[in-house]
Amino acid sequence: MPRNLIYQILGVSNIQHFEQQVFDQDHHLVLAIKMKRNAICCPQCQNKELVVRGWTQRQLAAPPIGHKPVLLQVQVPRVKCKHCPGIKHAHLPFAETRKQHTRSFARYVVEMRKCMTICDLARHLGVSEWMIRNIEKEYLKRHFQKPRLKDVRMIAIAEICIGSGHRYLTIVINLQTGAVLLVGNGKGADAL
Ligand SMILES: [Zn+2]
Repeated sequence: MPRNLIYQILGVSNIQHFEQQVFDQDHHLVLAIKMKRNAICCPQCQNKELVVRGWTQRQLAAPPIGHKPVLLQVQVPRVKCKHCPGIKHAHLPFAETRKQHTRSFARYVVEMRKCMTICDLARHLGVSEWMIRNIEKEYLKRHFQKPRLKDVRMIAIAEICIGSGHRYLTIVINLQTGAVLLVGNGKGADAL
């Protein structure tokens, strides 16, 4: 399979192959890649008028190939923009800052969580359960943190007891769709 096609499937772009691929001790397929010079831009203003001041390495989990987990070793340039102060890491178009995985990996996790447990998925992808939980938490936060209340016609309110010692949660749901609209601490009017 052509190398470019593999990278397209992995959801990474504007990169060039850097070193021969290897398997590490955990049997990950490790692909060493480097950003293409013409794709490097300032993370602040997106300008391409900059000077490269050295390179650093980021390790990013990517979607698996077959049953082999994939790890990208990305050479990321540190850049000095002509319009912004300071030296910064260049913007990677396929991964968010401070994340240890690509955007395509996060999408893969969300899709696979529909049919796999956190523990099984972490084992399949060769990553920690913590990473899977965080990806799912961010997805739920992004899509369900602020439910649309405009079209709500009927609601149901339930008070549930959690644990021992009379600890309660009050849950409000949209009776037509089943979507949770609010989870309040305690019970009674105060919780709402
Ligand atoms: Zn800039």
